[in-house]
Amino acid sequence: MNIPLSSYPRIVIIGGGFGGVSLAKKLSKQEVQVVLIDRNNYHTFQPLLYQVSTGGLEPDSIAYPLRKVLIGYDNFYFRLAEVDYIDTANKKVNTNIGDISFDYLVVATGSETNFFGNKEIEKNAMSMKSIPQSLNLRSLILENFEQALLTDDYHERDALMNFVIVGGGPTGVELSGALAEIKKGILPKDYPDLDTRRAQINIVQGGDCLLPGFSAQASKKAEDFLEKLGVQVWKGVRVTGYDGKTVTTKTDLKFDAATVVWAAGVKGAGIKGLDAEDVIAGGNRINVNEFNQVVGHPNIFAIGDIACMATEDNPRGHPMVAQPAIQQGKLLGENLVNLIENKPMKPFVYFDKGSMATIGRNKAVCDIKKFRFQGVFAWFVWMFVHLFFLIGFRNRMVVFINWVYNYIRFDREARLIIRPYKRDYGQFKD
Ligand SMILES: Cc1cc2nc3c(=O)[nH]c(=O)nc-3n(C[C@H](O)[C@H](O)[C@H](O)COP(=O)(O)OP(=O)(O)OC[C@H]3O[C@@H](n4cnc5c(N)ncnc54)[C@H](O)[C@@H]3O)c2cc1C
Repeated sequence: MNIPLSSYPRIVIIGGGFGGVSLAKKLSKQEVQVVLIDRNNYHTFQPLLYQVSTGGLEPDSIAYPLRKVLIGYDNFYFRLAEVDYIDTANKKVNTNIGDISFDYLVVATGSETNFFGNKEIEKNAMSMKSIPQSLNLRSLILENFEQALLTDDYHERDALMNFVIVGGGPTGVELSGALAEIKKGILPKDYPDLDTRRAQINIVQGGDCLLPGFSAQASKKAEDFLEKLGVQVWKGVRVTGYDGKTVTTKTDLKFDAATVVWAAGVKGAGIKGLDAEDVIAGGNRINVNEFNQVVGHPNIFAIGDIACMATEDNPRGHPMVAQPAIQQGKLLGENLVNLIENKPMKPFVYFDKGSMATIGRNKAVCDIKKFRFQGVFAWFVWMFVHLFFLIGFRNRMVVFINWVYNYIRFDREARLIIRPYKRDYGQFKD
């Protein structure tokens, strides 16, 4: 990999997400050599992916160059590479551009979509875990409307304008809300020759409430907001299949839909070599102790979504959201220095700052400690928090200006098919 040997211990970080970046920043002034590896040369701000999918933001406003994160840091190296395998015995990481040895390794690979083994859904439904996937979804949504204009078959046209969002967590709720706003504000203007009132947005949730993990008040309010926007909310319905045309469920309910988004679960993005039975926890996460040390591997650590630190409050690990990743990255930065200097490490204690989700213009729900509020104020809080955590001044400015523009103009200018998504439309013809 062409990285010089150094007298300092080498820390290899796999993944430049929330956890990896906060760790790298913390190590910037320490006497260590840091090698950050990621398959992308940018950090993705995943909470705003749904706005890319729905044309509210351009992808470059939620991505940040990882090399720029490291500018000015001594002894820092970035390599654009896909990690294939960890050779724990020889302390080496194997990637598609070669091997690299480590003194300490931090796995911060995040999570990936969990289809729970359903290959048919995996093949035919859309995911929204990365920028390329969000751009695919944006293209598909727009292509479906272009296609709907071309047919005089009612059934086919309805299916092309039918959206099924599987999963009633924050991602599903936020995406459904954004689609409902497009239906109301954009489609009638863009497609005056199409009866876009027939477009349907369905959110299908296996459990008995939306936003599980939020307060009952927030969950109920989110449902009310969605219904007011015209979204059909299906609760207690398990999706069993999608062949590219029809969504089947455990009940008699079926949907013919050209756009199905799977937002029903994630699992740890594991790496070969670190997959022994005692290492892997539920949801393909990696078992770590209170110092984020991987069980049985004192020099290997895992942080963020991939790490499962079972505690009394979170027996199945911390929630797979940005805050645990950021907080674990920061503490691990201190702990690695302590470890190198033979000082005791500090155990991780999660500070839960609360949860929030936006449903659309002026509509959000926030559960912050004992404070539970919904509506316009919650929406402003949601926007402020998201702007604050975006990496990069330019990105914050661009997102802010876009939001103001979209708010005033009821618009989403990025409704562009830049890279077409290839779909077989033949199956919708009777
Ligand atoms: C659509 C969506 C909406 C979300 N909304 C919210 C929200 O509103 N609030 C919130 O707190 N959280 C939200 N989350 C969750 C949040 O984004 C994650 O919890 C957070 O990103 C986890 O951080 P991480 O550092 O563990 O992993 P990530 O941020 O996922 O970073 C992992 C990195 O590892 C890299 N990587 C993975 N495997 C390899 C490999 N084999 N080789 C090289 N590189 C690799 C990836 O490219 C990536 O850069 C959302 C997630 C999604 C998908």
